[in-house]
Amino acid sequence: MAKRSAKRNLPSARKARGQASVSVSAPAPALPSGPRPAPAASTARAVVAAPSGGGAKLTVRFYCQGIGDCHLLKFTKDDGGDFWMLIDCGIHSSITGGPAKMGQIVDDIATLTPRLDVIVLTHEHWDHNSAFFTARDKFKQFTVGEIWLGWTENPSDPQARQLDKFKAGAVNALQQANKRLQGLREPGPHLAALQDGLQAVMGFNFGVQGEKVRDARDAAVNLTSPNNRRYLEPTTPPFSIPGLGKTLRIYVLGPPRDAAMLGITERPAEMYGIAAAGGWPIATVLGNALATEAGALQPGQDMTAPFNPEDGLDLKSARSRRNRRSDEQAKATAQFLHDYYDGPARLEPAAKPAGKKRRAARDSKRTDQKWRRIDQDWLGVSSDLAIQLDDRTNNSSLVLAFEFLESKRVVLFVGDAQVGNWLSWQNVKWTVDDKTVTGPDLLARTVFYKVGHHGSQNATLKQHGLELMKNTDLAAFIPTNAKDALKVKWGAMPFVPILDDLNTRANKRVVRADDAWLALPAGNPQFSVPSGAIKALSHDPSGNGLWVQMDIAVG
Ligand SMILES: [Zn+2]
Repeated sequence: MAKRSAKRNLPSARKARGQASVSVSAPAPALPSGPRPAPAASTARAVVAAPSGGGAKLTVRFYCQGIGDCHLLKFTKDDGGDFWMLIDCGIHSSITGGPAKMGQIVDDIATLTPRLDVIVLTHEHWDHNSAFFTARDKFKQFTVGEIWLGWTENPSDPQARQLDKFKAGAVNALQQANKRLQGLREPGPHLAALQDGLQAVMGFNFGVQGEKVRDARDAAVNLTSPNNRRYLEPTTPPFSIPGLGKTLRIYVLGPPRDAAMLGITERPAEMYGIAAAGGWPIATVLGNALATEAGALQPGQDMTAPFNPEDGLDLKSARSRRNRRSDEQAKATAQFLHDYYDGPARLEPAAKPAGKKRRAARDSKRTDQKWRRIDQDWLGVSSDLAIQLDDRTNNSSLVLAFEFLESKRVVLFVGDAQVGNWLSWQNVKWTVDDKTVTGPDLLARTVFYKVGHHGSQNATLKQHGLELMKNTDLAAFIPTNAKDALKVKWGAMPFVPILDDLNTRANKRVVRADDAWLALPAGNPQFSVPSGAIKALSHDPSGNGLWVQMDIAVG
């Protein structure tokens, strides 16, 4: 992947205005106002001697709703005032009482601040944005400054629009496939497993009542005016925020632009021309099959169908009683179908053998023929599509590294970035104060890590992830709930080897949203405080375990 330097991506118009370089000098430039896909460091040349950043303060209230992210960051501004940033606010739809819990969380936020200077939406999944929809009236009480999203959410970005087309087609096809699967009377083990898996993915994309994740994202975006929406990407030069120029610099590590890294493996040569469900092979095949079933596409119009429509029999008409009456051939076919495909249904009186042979014949003909039936198995492709959709959306996570200028410490929020997003950080570089800053360099200075994707095995890399986080003050928070994860059949989440390695590297300074001590007013974590990056720690005194709050040692 090409080197991503700030210099390389400077719009030429800016150079014409006398900006020789966008190499960033301390204090970090504020993110300029006005919408643009990749905000440039417009004040990069306004070099001022770096004042002391020793006053840097960061307090984070991590909400503990379980499978879902909602983190409220309070930065102390250079003038001593507060700067409030909310990163995500959602809960997976499978969790009982989720919307009510999120309502409590939004109420709690309102007790702390009437203003959210920045809302960060990491990616378009229900467990990260549901509250903007389900608690939309509560959110209206806040004054909201800006919203930050990944470039993937920018409606005027052609690559984002292409990705969006895939998402829309895939969500639509999966929703229909899911409906069909739910309606099956005897799904069999394969399709039953598919039902479960699909339900879990649907929970990232829909609310309990079928509300769409897009509506939740848009509800958040609409809390701001169009001028205050920022679409960020790794080519965005490192920036600061107004009032924090002396202490803070923000790097955007992801989402990557590289399609392979995002998980898009589009190969036009292998794709069909007709796209009922988008431009991607699986979404197209499934979308077309569903459209054919619904009568919206004629069998001959589906260019992705594996067989010619003239080949084979239509099961419905072959089973039809009317056909059976009309001709001998049809009757024989219907009987064959009955005995070797649909059985063990009631035998036709004419086919019932008489006398001694009856028992033997009944045994063979009444054998359950379920194992032969494949007429719903085409829905199986939806599992691949669901995985693709899920991975790509997670990989579109906006990843922010907050660097504190004096201490050089980094606090890392990765959304649900999966493998491709993490790998792309290996190649990200910026020029700051004539020095090169790389992704691995930021990881090496990370003192606090918001664990990605609720601690799953594919969202925290080993060699190119945790093993690079070498700071001995490391601490981490995992927005997870092991019981809920089992309930929705995700298996062990958080993934034990990641948890073990985190505990080792962070010297046990790991807090999980489902930690039992959080629900005890006098509970204590598994480490002493202060320790490492955790200067102070408190938690919800009500016994509801709603939040845990940490002062991070960033100064
Ligand atoms: Zn998530």
